[in-house]
Amino acid sequence: GGRRDATVKTSKPFSFDDIGGQDRAKVELIEALDFLVKHEEISKLGIRPLKGILLTGPPGTGKTLMAKAAAQYTDSVYLAASGSEFVEMYVGVGAGRIRDLFKDARKKAQKAGKKNAVIFIDEIDVIGGKRDGGQHREYDQTLNQLLTEMDGIHTNDAPRILIMAATNRKEMLDSALLRPGRFDRHIGVELPDKKGRLHILTIHAKNKPLDEAVSLDKIAEESFGFSGAQLESVLNEAAIYAMRESSESVRQEHLSMAIDKVMMGEKTDRESTK
Ligand code: ATP
Repeated sequence: GGRRDATVKTSKPFSFDDIGGQDRAKVELIEALDFLVKHEEISKLGIRPLKGILLTGPPGTGKTLMAKAAAQYTDSVYLAASGSEFVEMYVGVGAGRIRDLFKDARKKAQKAGKKNAVIFIDEIDVIGGKRDGGQHREYDQTLNQLLTEMDGIHTNDAPRILIMAATNRKEMLDSALLRPGRFDRHIGVELPDKKGRLHILTIHAKNKPLDEAVSLDKIAEESFGFSGAQLESVLNEAAIYAMRESSESVRQEHLSMAIDKVMMGEKTDRESTK
């Protein structure tokens, strides 16, 4: 049996300009991607192809957005899957899904007339966690299949496949995944600083009627430690407060209340999972 269709999500073009903050991560990623873009030069110099980029960092900081933007930047088709989708009760099913994912990527790229394909695997630690040698786990086979697929990528492949993976637990990964020729580029996608938060808030405020007196700068100041995903929630919650008051615009106090709400929400989430 093949992979469920739901595993593969293709998406609309998405650019680095749609990602707030993360200046350093963007520069590092673009530098790495240029290896794919300038493929001819690279292969003339005998440099081995770039196969895997690992994005590390806390949840909600934009790792998925980075992978989508990378696909656009390299004019690639984009396929996404999550590590948890490969964990199955029956031996070989997860490995089969990996095989299908790579097959799909090649097929999709050919159909779209693209030279490159980006495969994004979120939560890579689920299948790529440290193997402890002793007990045999079904997903060892899944991981082995992924390694086999990566080792099978060559400089002159058409289409060329780039695997991007994300984790917030890099230290958990099996060293086999991190070897040269596999995920040997690591890019940290960290929580945004104040400037980054302001940038993210500005991006997500674009489609919201903000009151003239609103200072997003102040909101950026007050939201220390928030991820991009939380900042997006702040704007959404603020709009809901505005709606409840039948206000036509989002005012500063709506945003301040939203910050508290998102902060509290995170706390209760954490407590309830304890
Ligand atoms: P996870 O590890 O939980 O999968 P992630 O790092 O992949 O998280 P994304 O899925 O990329 O995070 O981000 C979730 C949402 O949060 C995005 O769809 C976007 O709305 C918002 N977001 C996060 N980071 C940013 C950012 N840097 N700029 C703009 N929006 C962001």
